[in-house]
Amino acid sequence: MEGQLATYLTKLLPIQEDWVMEMEKEAKKENVPIMDPVSMDFIMLLIKLTKPKRILEIGTAIGYSALRMVEAYPKVSIVTIERDNARYEKAVQHIKQQNKTGNITVVHGDALEKIEAMAAKKESFDLIFIDAAKGQYKRFFELASPMLENGGLILSDNVLFKGYVVHPEEAHSRHKKMVERIQNYNDWLTKHPDYTTSIVPIGDGVAISLKNW
Ligand code: SAM
Repeated sequence: MEGQLATYLTKLLPIQEDWVMEMEKEAKKENVPIMDPVSMDFIMLLIKLTKPKRILEIGTAIGYSALRMVEAYPKVSIVTIERDNARYEKAVQHIKQQNKTGNITVVHGDALEKIEAMAAKKESFDLIFIDAAKGQYKRFFELASPMLENGGLILSDNVLFKGYVVHPEEAHSRHKKMVERIQNYNDWLTKHPDYTTSIVPIGDGVAISLKNW
């Protein structure tokens, strides 16, 4: 969501603690893509509602969304995966600074490999948050899905990709393939027989998929 509606909704958000504003500033300065505050607020509400015991996050960046999910529900335990070395280091540092090492484990490496290894060990989660390479969402979903409890949620961010899913002709040529992959993901996801999905046009678009009981 862009423009006036986004500005309006951002203004309605509660005042954040200093560490939240500092991380948002840092991400902006360093050009690190993190969840926009309005979508983050929405996901935090979903977490307060569902009280997940274990969350798998795919795409840590500098630890912003993981820390905010703990803020929403301090009893949660999160495993989050990041492949970029510098971002991984930053995430570990931020999580230490906030004294949340007991809640959040940051795994360094490619999510495709790490998820496969976790699935082989029969790990289980009640919420999975996909926020990494957009072209691989279907693969992330398929690999992680067996670890999700029935009644659990998979959240996928950026599924509307700045509106290009509706107007692919407006996307830069280097993004066209990505737009097509997201469109295919959304088609596949909304028809998935084991999940009930709703796409919410908030931020860059968040898909909420409930694993049927
Ligand atoms: N969830 C974070 C937040 O809101 O604070 C933002 C994550 S950012 C949008 C996506 C991150 O996923 C990037 O830091 C990128 O390096 C990482 N990433 C992309 N593909 C990945 C993969 N296959 N395995 C692990 N990390 C990946």
